[in-house]
Parts: sequence; structure tokens; C-alpha cells
Amino acid sequence: MEIINRRLTVHEFEDYIKNYYFGTKPANKLVIHHTWRPTTEQWQGQTSINGLKGYYEGKGWPAGPHLFIAEDGIWLFSPMRKDGIHAAAFNHQTIGIEIVGDYDNQIWKGQTKYNALGTIRSLAIRLNLKEEDILFHRDASPKTCPGTAIQKQWLFDELRSYRTKPRFPNPITDGIPTPAEDEILIPIWASDAVSFVLKHRLFEIRTDDDVRDAVKFYRFYQIVKNEPE
Ligand SMILES: [Zn+2]
Repeated sequence: MEIINRRLTVHEFEDYIKNYYFGTKPANKLVIHHTWRPTTEQWQGQTSINGLKGYYEGKGWPAGPHLFIAEDGIWLFSPMRKDGIHAAAFNHQTIGIEIVGDYDNQIWKGQTKYNALGTIRSLAIRLNLKEEDILFHRDASPKTCPGTAIQKQWLFDELRSYRTKPRFPNPITDGIPTPAEDEILIPIWASDAVSFVLKHRLFEIRTDDDVRDAVKFYRFYQIVKNEPE
């Protein structure tokens, strides 16, 4: 099975689909799924993608879903110009989108939510889709997929109120968007820096100032790293 195997941010995905050739008969519906397993906690990026590819190949499938949406980004799996295999009744002329996690008891959150809404919204615009073109796997299956906690009206409300983050911000002067209530919002452009700081346990990320410090620290690290001897 050939997979595209790239991981994009929301802005990169928007750029990717802008000139993407969706085929002679572009998809006219999106089908939303959840992976159920792996859960968000079990997700390991590239390792999980490789595992899923092996799993589908083991079933003898020539394709799988088109996209996997996780905390670490939007993973391009099967090409969107071809039919994927993800929902028996809905495989033709649709794009199958797997949200990584188990959403029978909780709704999307964090970067997964941001990435999912950004992906669905940008595809809907690009392919000129209406709300009724956004399908859930369970619309044609006894499964609960994409999770009992995920309801269409909630999704449509979220899509309407979705705000994209600044595209080319200057983290030093532009400031950082106000976090929503008590959760700290890590902007996409700061996510590599924050991951770096957390991975190396440099300091904790609790406030916007911590995010800003992470970005500065990461930039400094990159400069030093690339400086010739
Ligand atoms: Zn499903």
C-alpha cells in the first residue's frame, strides 16, 4: 500500500490542498471517524502510522483512510484523489478522516481539536461542501464512530466559531492569543518549541510567558546548533 506519509500543520494543510489535484471526480463528502484505538495516549506519530499501514495491508486492502488527525499534526495517508477504504457504505468519492482517540466519552480537545476543525473546515471550503456533506461513519454503520460524544450540531457550531491562528506571527512582538479559560493554548507555530522544551524537561509550560520563553529558547538553540565551529 502506497501512503503519502507526511505530517502537516493546519496552515501547511491549507497550502497543500490549495493546488492539490482531487481527480476528475473530486470527493463530495467527508466521513469522520475516530480511531478508538490507538487512543490519544497510545499515539506515537510515525510509529503508529507504520503500524496502521501494516494493519491495513494485513487485511489485503489497497488503501486506507485519507487522513489521521492527532496531537502532533495532520498525517496524510491514502491520496485524497482516490477512493479510500474506511467505511463500507461511504468509500466512494469521499474523504475518510480519522480523528486519533476514543471519543465515546469525551469530545476532541487540545491540538487534536484544533487540527480536526482546521482540516474539516479547509476541505469543506476547498471542495465546496455544505454541512450535510459532512458524514459520520455511524450514519451508515451500527458502530458509534466517530464516538458517542461527538454530535453533528456540536461539530457544526465549532466549525462556525473556529478561529485560525495567525499565519506568520512574530512571536517576539505580536504576543500570543489569550488562552481559553484555564487551558493554555499552544499556538501551532510554537508547538515545536514547546515540544522541545517539554521533551528535554527544560521548564514547565504553564503560562503564555512560558510559551514565549520556549520559542525564544528554541530559536537560540537552532542558531547555536547551526553555527559553524
Ligand atoms: Zn469509523
